[in-house]
Amino acid sequence: MADPRGFLKVRDRELPPNRPVEVRLRDWKDTHAHRKAGEPYLVNLHDQAGRCMDCGVPFCHQGCPLGNLIPEWNDLVWRDQWADAVDRLHATNNFPELTGRICPAPCESSCVLGISQPPVTIKNVEVSIADAAFERGLTPQVPARLTGTTVAVVGSGPAGLAAAQQLTRAGHTVVVYERDARIGGLLRYGIPDFKLEKHIIDQRLAQMEAEGTRFRHGVEIGKDITWDALRRRFDAVVVATGATVPRDLRLPGRELRGVHYAMDFLVPANQVANGEDVPAGVPSAEGKHVVVIGGGDTGSDCVGTALRQGAASVTTLAIGKKPPLTRPANQPWPTDPILFEVSTSHEEGGERTYLASTVEFLDDTTGGVVGLRVAETEYLPDGRREPKAGTEHVIRADLVLVAMGFTGPETAALTAQTGVELTERGLLRRGDDFATSLPGVFVAGDAGRGQSLVVWAIAEGRAVAAAVDAHLRGTTELPAPVGPR
Ligand code: FAD
Repeated sequence: MADPRGFLKVRDRELPPNRPVEVRLRDWKDTHAHRKAGEPYLVNLHDQAGRCMDCGVPFCHQGCPLGNLIPEWNDLVWRDQWADAVDRLHATNNFPELTGRICPAPCESSCVLGISQPPVTIKNVEVSIADAAFERGLTPQVPARLTGTTVAVVGSGPAGLAAAQQLTRAGHTVVVYERDARIGGLLRYGIPDFKLEKHIIDQRLAQMEAEGTRFRHGVEIGKDITWDALRRRFDAVVVATGATVPRDLRLPGRELRGVHYAMDFLVPANQVANGEDVPAGVPSAEGKHVVVIGGGDTGSDCVGTALRQGAASVTTLAIGKKPPLTRPANQPWPTDPILFEVSTSHEEGGERTYLASTVEFLDDTTGGVVGLRVAETEYLPDGRREPKAGTEHVIRADLVLVAMGFTGPETAALTAQTGVELTERGLLRRGDDFATSLPGVFVAGDAGRGQSLVVWAIAEGRAVAAAVDAHLRGTTELPAPVGPR
């Protein structure tokens, strides 16, 4: 193990600084400072990794859907054995450069050291190992022989990419179909550059292409190629199409000009930030009073984007209660919000209103939105919530972004063309082996799980690859870190 007394010698977390707000608001680059190749690390990683206690029962493993071997690579970093650390990290995680940047790090919430001290900076050690791997140059893992079987992966988000990489390395011929102009799913067009710069995705795609994965972008399955034709063409199909149907807020005035789903704002903003063309008239926050409805990841990405576009004001309305800002005295265990209660976007500006219920969108008499009528949220004894009488007030807004999550995948074409079974929630129904009701068709990621996290998508991508490999070859040696539920 790493230094057995490390956590006694170094009691504090040390993390690289975020770039100053006034600097980072002027560009789209990563909020966090990252060391440049060849330069010294921004924190003492040896000491930080050395705080890991190598617990007999490492709860960080259980906290991580991928089962990352965290104490092992902490130990290797402490020993300065970076090449081995890269191997141990990649043993369970195809894309640590992603999770090391944008995962809410349930591993850190599960860190046993957190009982008495701040948890180990697992995520920062992870991203440092991942970046070191790319700096050294990743060797493509080309399969020794091909199986002669073919797999179509539909959707190029983290679930589809993880499945494709595992199956390609297992020797199957894999084609990834993506309807968007570029590969990456929400990593590319949902999550802004200030959380994940896109060259991070591109460097991994280069490795995947060198390994033999084929990418077909700009192809929508169900429209450009029917689902049935795809099934005839391939020995197996993995549906990794995400949960892209936004949850709406059906209130008076919802149809007004200036009220948009969050993704109608974030996608073109990401495209512009990366030099892609967007149609005229896409929503922009420049000079506007912006209200974001929803306090999750999507909402906070809208805040950071609106601030960078030069919004006059940004207000987030969240229906939830204000999270505790400090760990309660009677609560020794760190809870999730301790690390993520305030996102970097919230540090940058804007107001947040908790327990806020929107009552209606207000019209400027020309069909445009001019504000929202909002009330405090009251929790009823049966747990339901409703606007509290007598608390209504008006908030000014000329751009409203509805960021209330996603209800599930788009399934119209798939069900019409194949009759695949759905769950009551509208997700693709799947058995214990990730198989849908259609022979040879599997599902992974948000399309099967519902809206979730990148780390779950990668874990499901690995697990579905094991299921597909077993289906095609009768046996598999691929790991399956998670089940379908
Ligand atoms: P997706 O990433 O949604 O990819 C699905 C892909 O399938 C899309 O590219 C879509 O175009 C394609 N597709 C759909 N239908 C078809 C078709 N018929 N033919 C061809 N292609 C098709 N998670 C985190 O862990 N940390 C974060 O910080 C975070 N921030 C987020 C911010 C935003 C704004 C959003 C919306 C989500 C965020 N998430 C975050 C959640 C995370 O991005 C998702 O859980 C994850 O991307 C799901 O991966 P996936 O592969 O299942 O689907």
